[in-house]
Amino acid sequence: MNAHVIIIGGGLGGLTTGALLSKEGCRVTVLEKNPIAGGGLQCFRRQGVLFETGMHIVGGFTPGHNLYEICRYLGIMDKLSIRDTDPDCMDSVTFGRTGEIYRLPRGRVALENYLARRFPGQADGLHRYFDDLWTLSEEVDLFYLRPDSGGMLKPHSDAFLMPADSFIGRYVDDPVLAELLAYMNPMYGGVAGHTPAFVHALINVLYINGSGMFTDGSQQMADALCRLITQAGGEVLTGDPVTEIAVEERFVTRVTTRRGKTYKGDWYISDLHPCTLLTLVPETAFPRSYRSRLQEIPNSYSAFSVYIKFKEGARQPFAGHPCYYQEDHGYVWRLAEYDEADFPRGFMCLTPPAGNQGPWAERMTLNCPMPFSAVAAWADSHTGHRPPDYYAWKERMLQQTLDRLERLRPGIRRDIGLCFASTPLTIRDYYGTKEGAIYGYNRDCRNMALSQVPIGTKVRNLLLTGQNINLHGICGVPLTAIQTAEAIVGRNTIVTKIRQGSLWL
Ligand SMILES: Cc1cc2nc3c(=O)[nH]c(=O)nc-3n(C[C@H](O)[C@H](O)[C@H](O)COP(=O)(O)OP(=O)(O)OC[C@H]3O[C@@H](n4cnc5c(N)ncnc54)[C@H](O)[C@@H]3O)c2cc1C
Repeated sequence: MNAHVIIIGGGLGGLTTGALLSKEGCRVTVLEKNPIAGGGLQCFRRQGVLFETGMHIVGGFTPGHNLYEICRYLGIMDKLSIRDTDPDCMDSVTFGRTGEIYRLPRGRVALENYLARRFPGQADGLHRYFDDLWTLSEEVDLFYLRPDSGGMLKPHSDAFLMPADSFIGRYVDDPVLAELLAYMNPMYGGVAGHTPAFVHALINVLYINGSGMFTDGSQQMADALCRLITQAGGEVLTGDPVTEIAVEERFVTRVTTRRGKTYKGDWYISDLHPCTLLTLVPETAFPRSYRSRLQEIPNSYSAFSVYIKFKEGARQPFAGHPCYYQEDHGYVWRLAEYDEADFPRGFMCLTPPAGNQGPWAERMTLNCPMPFSAVAAWADSHTGHRPPDYYAWKERMLQQTLDRLERLRPGIRRDIGLCFASTPLTIRDYYGTKEGAIYGYNRDCRNMALSQVPIGTKVRNLLLTGQNINLHGICGVPLTAIQTAEAIVGRNTIVTKIRQGSLWL
């Protein structure tokens, strides 16, 4: 393959697709708007402390699992430093009002046994639930890096597309246990009655099999992918957004950046939110029905994130696992329903590990689900130029979040040296994502046809990649990258090579 591939957007999707194509012999040019490539993988420093933006918990990085095998194939696995979550507590779940704490161990058997001990009357249902959860994940070939035998079009079980909350309700009738089984909701933006059971299954199986956190930040993965592309003769050009994609007779002919540079290739791949892509192509590029469909698909909720640097000498314990906090029971499927007085209903917080990690944490990050509607009043403003009432609101939300954090870690406020927040507007403007959706398009089992966006488009040399196609996150995005790359180099070509080189698959 000597094709020249231009990739618009250097997030996890664009970079992984670029890395896979570079390995296939393509010449890859990645065009990224931000000064540093990585999108959700990107990290930043404040007062010398490193913070992640959009990749806190990862999974699949153990031998034989999808991310490990993809990164091994790309030759970057040994460049990544990932700390496993604690085996006896991969996640803790705290209910603020009642003070209940659940410390969930890693691995299916340990987790099932733990929950059966805490909810003795539910042991049979739990066993069937976990069996069926794994069976659901088995229906997605790519999740197990098996050659695709028909994708979403192949027949699936009844449970595959049923709402995740109804799926859980089939097995357990204890409302607290049902809620606990959905505690990873913030990792997939679950919405009751809409999120399909297969999304719930893939995310849960991924993390229960082994979750971890990047040591010293997720930027290392973006950097490793960029190196791979450049070492193969490609380029990753940053700090200059693509402003126009010219399309003639259903072919992209060139892309132009803000600085007026023009790039031409054989193939063009967009890692952007499809609605952002629509703003760059001529209106006639796609049929009107396709444009309106892309605009109508609902997006996942956004987030209000809080970043904390502890004071020098503070003794805030480092936690080797994420902590999920919920203010009260009954919230797990309604975490992002916004009511200013009751914000945040819940959050996921963690103390990201450093290379020289000791018993005390240097920093902490909290992600609170928040809908875009909470910031809609300031939707016309942009980074650095927002009105005073926005900053006043942001400060109130920050203080409310710290109040709730105090329930999880009493006295934490006195140890905080530096503390600041980002909002759905930050996410929207930073990634160029519609409504600051943290996971892009929502998958909706009531209308899968609407939320399923194919990789190919009516513009024949323009393909899509990234979290809006198939699934989001550390697992979904690289799996889609394989499919996007295979649209150029041949169906199942790459997945077969990954399998052939594996000691485990
Ligand atoms: C707060 C938050 C927390 C998260 N936590 C986790 C987590 O713990 N685990 C997990 O698995 N996932 C997590 N995610 C989701 C994860 O970050 C995403 O699914 C993933 O990074 C998406 O990758 P992508 O390449 O599809 O999109 P992006 O990372 O958004 O990449 C798109 C890229 O396109 C660039 N771009 C936009 N417009 C232009 C333009 N005009 N020209 C050139 N470039 C452009 C953007 O700057 C960006 O770099 C989180 C997301 C958020 C927001």
